[in-house]
Parts: sequence; structure tokens; C-alpha cells
Amino acid sequence: MEKKAFVTKEMVEDIVKKYPTPFHIYDEKGIRENAKALKDAFSWNKGYKEYFAVKATPNPFLINILRDYGCGTDCSSYTELMLSDAIGLKGEDIMFSSNDTPAEEFEYAAKLGAIINLDDITHIEFLEKTIGYIPETISCRYNPGGYFEIANSIMDNPGDAKYGFTTEQLFEGFKILKAKGAKNFGIHAFLASNTVTNDYYPQLARQLFELAVKLEKETGADIKFINLSGGIGIPYRPDQEANDIKLIGENVHKVYDEILVPAGMGDVAIYTELGRFMMGPYGHLITKVLHEKHTHKEYIGVDACAANLMRPAMYGAYHHITVLGKENEPCDQTYDITGSLCENNDKFAIDRKLPRIEIGDYLAIHDTGAHGFAMGYNYNGRLWSSELLLKEDGSVQLIRRAQEPKDYFATFDCFPIYEKLQ
Ligand SMILES: *Cc1c(COP(=O)(O)O)cnc(C)c1O
Repeated sequence: MEKKAFVTKEMVEDIVKKYPTPFHIYDEKGIRENAKALKDAFSWNKGYKEYFAVKATPNPFLINILRDYGCGTDCSSYTELMLSDAIGLKGEDIMFSSNDTPAEEFEYAAKLGAIINLDDITHIEFLEKTIGYIPETISCRYNPGGYFEIANSIMDNPGDAKYGFTTEQLFEGFKILKAKGAKNFGIHAFLASNTVTNDYYPQLARQLFELAVKLEKETGADIKFINLSGGIGIPYRPDQEANDIKLIGENVHKVYDEILVPAGMGDVAIYTELGRFMMGPYGHLITKVLHEKHTHKEYIGVDACAANLMRPAMYGAYHHITVLGKENEPCDQTYDITGSLCENNDKFAIDRKLPRIEIGDYLAIHDTGAHGFAMGYNYNGRLWSSELLLKEDGSVQLIRRAQEPKDYFATFDCFPIYEKLQ
């Protein structure tokens, strides 16, 4: 897939007059078109709902855009629940899919009326002890173990993942929950991450639908929804093809008609908890070239670092880079693009073929809209960047200011330095 930046050099030169680099910028138009395409792809299912995975991009402005397309939120922590509450999401618009969950998070989720998705059979008792009852609507996360394969190639390794109930535990858990008063059941599974194939959801759906039919038969639990969770990926690399969400929706529909409808379960709602697919391609990290260094390799030093985008350092992840204004120049140079952290893995790209770069050039690092800003940290005392929204009318809105030193030192209210900074 051709990787084209959604901003130009001229646009960035204009934006930096007000908001200096580095910053993450998001493309409202792209977010809206994609959210609409997802909604349309699953419109055949009456109860369909996307619960956006807040952890991917925890920004209320962006989440509010998704709400125009009927999306709720999928939360994994106390603060993500707070964010959902603060923007007015209530009750079953919130999915609480957490693991290793502290008691106060279950309490808060229950207070909001969120759907609680249990990660483990022991959490049934823990939840009941914590909140004093078992909610009428409850979901359990499933982990069949082994490998998740598509057409004989291994996509991921659920057997090595910390999440979910085993098959036996799921049957046992549903019986226990039913005996304790649960009425509306859900099944959730997240078995492969960042899948760039149209086959993941349909294959996962088949596995979960077959399981749901057995579960209902054996436990008498009334299954109301099946949550396919996250895992639909994006083409980070130019040689990858984007997923076709319309086709994915159609193929889940086929499996639904084949397995659930004949079992008398044609009213089951399909839920998704996509994060990366919803936002990933619609974010860029914009950074300015500060230095070039010619030693054992050719280095380009920029004003962003791994604290602004951790994926390359953490996973060796590829993020495409466009040198703005040089889109049509030949990629005849080989560079390492580095940040300033005192960590040698602080490189946005290694041995990357790019056009000749000069000091002062702006780079657009692609696909930072999900798991980008969100994974930011403060190592080396580096501060979080701002987040900007490129609106449909071409204007730019600040949707989170950059961190300042006073924010970094804010938790030192127990030490005199904090007063000095006031
Ligand atoms: C991370 C996560 C998601 C979103 O995953 P993506 O790969 O961003 O789609 C959804 N559900 C749960 C429970 C998660 O942990």
C-alpha cells in the first residue's frame, strides 16, 4: 500500500508557528471515513457495537468523534473508566476488559454500570466479594491455548498469553455465574494481534460461535453478545495490504448465518474492541531534524524520541517515514533516524532508505494514531508532546497541550523543588 502523509511541508510550516515540534497530529477525515466503514460493515447485525480500546489513544476529543458512529469505550483501568465517565458514557456503552484487576476498579466499573468482562474464573468470587453481587450482564474472556493459525501459518500464541479462561473454566464459570443470578452472558476473545489479513475475524468468529452454541446448550446460559475484541491490524509497511473491513464484515456474517442462526441464536450481538484499526493510520508524529552525524553510520537526530513513540524501540516495529517536501525525491540515502535518549534503541528507523535529509527538514512518522502517544513515558526527563487534530475543514485544533517541566515535577509536592517551580 502506498504510504502518503496526510500533511504537507507547507501545512507543517504553518502549524509550527503556533505549536512547535514534536507533536502528534490526527486526521479527522480519515478517522470518520474509517469509523463509518466499520459501522456499515457490521450493519447486518442488529446489536453491533464497537467499543473503542481507550488504551490505544486515550484522548476525549478523538473518542468523541467515534461516538458519532455509535462507538462506546473498552477500558482496562481506573483512569480509562474515569475518562469514559467524564465524557458522558454510561452503563453498557462501557466495556471493562481488564486483567489482574484491583478491587476498586471493579467497584468503579460496577458503579458506572459498565459491562464487566472477567479475565479469570477466580474473579467471579473476587467480584462478588468486592461489589456484593454478580451483575445480571456479565462477560468472560476465553483463551483456548495452543496456537492461533490461519491457513497453517501461526498468527499468535494464545497458549503463552496470560489472559482468559480455559475452555473447561469457561463452562464451569458460566454455570457458577448463572447460579449466582447472571442473566445476560457474553464471550470475549483476543487471540491474535495486529493481523493484516481479512481472515482473522471470520476464523475467530467461527471458533467463538461454535463455542457459544455448546455453552448455551450445556450451561443454559443466555448468550447475548460475542466480543471479537481487537486485533485487526494496519499496514505499517508499504508492502502490506490494508484489511478490507467490508469483506471482513461479510465473512463474519456468513459464519453467523451458518452457525448461530440454525442454533436459534440469530439475535446474538457482535461487539468489537478495535484500537489500532480505528486510529493507527490517522496519526503522524511530526518531528524536526536537529542534527546530522557522520560516524560509523549516517545518523539523523530529530527532536522527538522514543518517549514520544515507543514501538520501534520496544518491538523493533517499522514505522514509515516521509521527509516532507521531498515526497518525490529518490530514496538514495541510508540513515538511522535517532532521538536523544541515552539508550541506543532510541531509533525510529535503522538503515532506512530515504531522500537526502537536511537540518530543519520535517519528518512525518506514520501510523502513530494508536499505541503511539499513549505509550509515552518520561525517561531522561523527556516530556510528552502535544496532540493536534487536523479538522475536516483544514483547521488545526490543540487537543492536548505539551507537557511542561511543572507537569513533570508535579508529583514532587513532597519536595521543595515543587514550590520553586510555582
Ligand atoms: C489492546 C486491546 C484491544 C485493542 O487492540 P488493538 O490491537 O489496538 O485493536 C482490545 N481489547 C483488549 C482487551 C485489549 O487489551
